[in-house]
Amino acid sequence: MKMQGKVLFVFLLQSLFLAKVSPEPSSEEDSSSEMHHEEQRKSGSHGHWKYDDQDKWSLDFKNCSGKSQSPINIDTRAAIFTPALPPIVLQGYDLSDEEKLTLQNNGHTLQLSLPDTMRIVRGFDSVFVAAQLHFHWGTVKVPGSEHTVDGLHFPAEIHVVHYNSKYDNLSEAASKPDGLAVLGAFIEIGPQENANYDNVLSSLTDVSIEESDTEIPGFNVRFLLPPNLDHFYRYNGSLTTPPCFQTVNWTIFNETVKVSRKQLSELEDTLKAGHDSVLSKNFRAPQLLYGRRVLSSFEALGSPGGVSSGGTEDTSSGKSSKRGARLGSGEDSSEKDLTDKGEEDAKFALGLGEILAIVFGVLFIVTLLSFIMYMVQQRKKNSRLRKDTRQNVIYTPTPKEGV
Ligand SMILES: [Zn+2]
Repeated sequence: MKMQGKVLFVFLLQSLFLAKVSPEPSSEEDSSSEMHHEEQRKSGSHGHWKYDDQDKWSLDFKNCSGKSQSPINIDTRAAIFTPALPPIVLQGYDLSDEEKLTLQNNGHTLQLSLPDTMRIVRGFDSVFVAAQLHFHWGTVKVPGSEHTVDGLHFPAEIHVVHYNSKYDNLSEAASKPDGLAVLGAFIEIGPQENANYDNVLSSLTDVSIEESDTEIPGFNVRFLLPPNLDHFYRYNGSLTTPPCFQTVNWTIFNETVKVSRKQLSELEDTLKAGHDSVLSKNFRAPQLLYGRRVLSSFEALGSPGGVSSGGTEDTSSGKSSKRGARLGSGEDSSEKDLTDKGEEDAKFALGLGEILAIVFGVLFIVTLLSFIMYMVQQRKKNSRLRKDTRQNVIYTPTPKEGV
């Protein structure tokens, strides 16, 4: 009976999530007019929106103040472990070097166009076709991931944007409730150069000027993502730039990608936005959840060992994380896994310790109370005895008095 209740509860939770999966279709018409609006503005000066004035985006793009916006902070303790989430299966990510990809500095990000042979074939109700990938970053002092985990930013974040194969292209799908699926991963600083990232970073200087592009040979794009894709967070959100369409099914991987400090600096320092300014800090602040649930494909044991402890504090002082420090001292990935497990074990041990402390505390209080009650009873008994003795003294006639 208890088990049935539990199953019913999980079922209700899932129904609730599925009901929330589709954003309100009512905004579709508004969205297309906003898209038009955006195009009009684009044809004018390029400064139609800036990261500096993101709190004013909604004046021109009203979706940006909607209730399913991205990015968000992922509260690992609030994430709902959902074993039914199917794993992500990618297809066609290993591109031939004969394939030519366009790398572009579009003034907001570094973007790589992707061929429609790249797909997510499992993980969602339909197949999703890749369109482009891009990055969000900060500066050497300000970590620039868009999503945060337990309030912590990572140095950078990669987004691989896919659209639902039932639509013809990205722009058609972008405003549809089931239009987009974005895979997101956090980029951290590791001890070694990441050769996979050099496929992109080695051409940065060719696109340093805003609105410039270049062609780069294909490579295995899968390796821009973390080694393990099985552990991820899932929620319904939006584009993180205007027009902020609330049409994105987000997947944020728990495992991070590592690049060297030098590689990250190249990303942070090379590109220009406008004439003189460096293109950096191209991230939007975390948005309110408004009751949305974040699901996880893995059991986080309160807080996951993977991502949560790897963040960098959300301050402009650029305080580096515990993990950052460990990685700096030459940690490799196998050590990291062990450390993660160790951290999880430590957390589990802490939980047991806390439970034991509570049990002993309660036992102590019960013993103390019993002792006090015993003492009170003893005192009562004694005083009664004394009273009885006095009464005996008072009421027992002394034989001498009668004499
Ligand atoms: Zn993005």
